[in-house]
Amino acid sequence: MRLLLIEDDDRIAGPLTEGLGRYGFTVDHVRTGAAGLAGTAGSPDLVLLDLGLPDMDGLDVCRGLRAGSAVPIIMITARGDEADRIVGLELGADDYLAKPFGVRELVARIRAVTRRTSGALPFPAPAQPAGVAQSPAAQTLGALEISRRTRQVHLKGTEIPLTPREFDLLAYLAEDPGTVYSRQQIMDTVWDPHFFGPTKTLDAHVAALRRKLGDPAWVTTARGVGFRLTTPAAEAHE
Ligand code: CA
Repeated sequence: MRLLLIEDDDRIAGPLTEGLGRYGFTVDHVRTGAAGLAGTAGSPDLVLLDLGLPDMDGLDVCRGLRAGSAVPIIMITARGDEADRIVGLELGADDYLAKPFGVRELVARIRAVTRRTSGALPFPAPAQPAGVAQSPAAQTLGALEISRRTRQVHLKGTEIPLTPREFDLLAYLAEDPGTVYSRQQIMDTVWDPHFFGPTKTLDAHVAALRRKLGDPAWVTTARGVGFRLTTPAAEAHE
């Protein structure tokens, strides 16, 4: 899989290119927005886009990429500004990751975005086939709809307000419903790579998710292992 990395800071791009290489990704690295826009001519499978670039605003690069291509885009940003992220997602980025982050977390995001967008249709997307949720990035599980693009969760059509971490936890478990994710896997991906220490915060977030989703059966405990996302029986028949 070929990635186009648009990042001016070599201290970030260097280790990232090397780290991604260990996971089997080929990385083409460019340092400016203009080179990034030109770089899509090489038909990358996914673009990693830094927002703080020397020659143009990363959001404009995102807009430019999206104008001519359906290539998946993950924004990587040191900007803490929530508004930038939301604008980026509205401009068509598929996900974002705030610096600092671990390679493992980035790889998890790349895989998730690729899974969502694989079989993606040529841009612009034609009409949705019947039975597919309106947002191309939305995932439907029973009465639950998860839109990673807008980071919104709806249950029976009603938006469920989740904290960013609760959303990340739900989205991660939803990557493969029914699969048990170990506590360590969840901590590594949703919190920090190589997280170690007490994982009580995970239980607190699971409890919050269960409460907000109104049915503890959404998140099942695999005793001594971890958690999995399941569609409660009551929902499955609706
Ligand atoms: Ca930068």
